[in-house]
Amino acid sequence: MGLAEGAGSSAGACPSARDEHPTPPSGPRPSWERITGCLRRWLSSFLSRWWAVVVVAVLAMAAPARAEPCEPRITVTGHGSAAALADELAAAAPAHWATVRARLGLTGCAPVDVQLLPAIEGARDLEPPWQLPHWAAGAADPLSRRVVVAVTASRKRQDRGRVLLHELAHLGAREAAGGRPLPRWLDEGAARVIAGEHSSEDLSVLARARVGDSLIPLAALAEGFPHDQAHAALAYAEAGRAVSLLEGRRPDALASVLAAIAGGADVDHALWSVTGLWVWQLDGEVERSIPSWRAWAVVGREIDVALALAALVTAWAGLRARRQVRARLAAMPLEPAIAPQGMALVRWTVQRGVAG
Ligand SMILES: [Zn+2]
Repeated sequence: MGLAEGAGSSAGACPSARDEHPTPPSGPRPSWERITGCLRRWLSSFLSRWWAVVVVAVLAMAAPARAEPCEPRITVTGHGSAAALADELAAAAPAHWATVRARLGLTGCAPVDVQLLPAIEGARDLEPPWQLPHWAAGAADPLSRRVVVAVTASRKRQDRGRVLLHELAHLGAREAAGGRPLPRWLDEGAARVIAGEHSSEDLSVLARARVGDSLIPLAALAEGFPHDQAHAALAYAEAGRAVSLLEGRRPDALASVLAAIAGGADVDHALWSVTGLWVWQLDGEVERSIPSWRAWAVVGREIDVALALAALVTAWAGLRARRQVRARLAAMPLEPAIAPQGMALVRWTVQRGVAG
């Protein structure tokens, strides 16, 4: 634009391409500078006009993508008696997935395959099979984007909607980390926090571990969780507490740590860059989040309740035993105190002897 203005001012007006009746030139013949100036002005005008067209076209093509974000497809397949519940879970799935995507800032639209089972034991019969502990309520394979949800686990009915949200959060966490493997404590902690799994049972487990000085270092939970149910419960509770504490420092801490891991950082440096903590320091934060006095209060209350329950059971058992004894005595026949036949009663009589 500046180039055309300079050329025009020095060399006079150029004839317009739209001028159908140009006035014949009356002055001196146009100089070479004027011709080149006009050419440059026309070229500049042409480019500015067509560049505007190109920019408008690109924006027009990009606009629908911004206005209509892709809808990830989630397929829910019910097996056996759970088939009747598949539609219900499929209806809830998009909202759960949207929660995960919003929390972690995801934009991908790869489909998700959900298998709904009557009981978690049925997972071993799927193709490919899953090997899961009996207490697991669900599982996720982020790489193949497969999820298993069980209606029952350990013969107890599960909250299948929450289980689905937890498992979708596993998929989302891996996606947010750029597909890189995550330490198990971070993966499970993210899933628990996103699914809102903060139970009083967690507090009880953490309090007992704090009193018994048996909290597990997060570094020891990087590769996997214990298999036995009691220690696994402690590992889950610690993981959830650790990620909650991270989000307490910064609301976007989880998404930021996962993004740092996606960028190539290991978990220690990702954590430090976002929160200023190393993993071993997060261990201390977890421990300090359950002060001793509180841990003892929780355990003491549980002991009190246990003792009170034991006392009630003992009193009830004593009363029941007394009632049974009374009932048995009342049922016994009352007979006169005579000697049974065939038994001789002996009476001793002592006579004073007479000396002969
Ligand atoms: Zn999990």
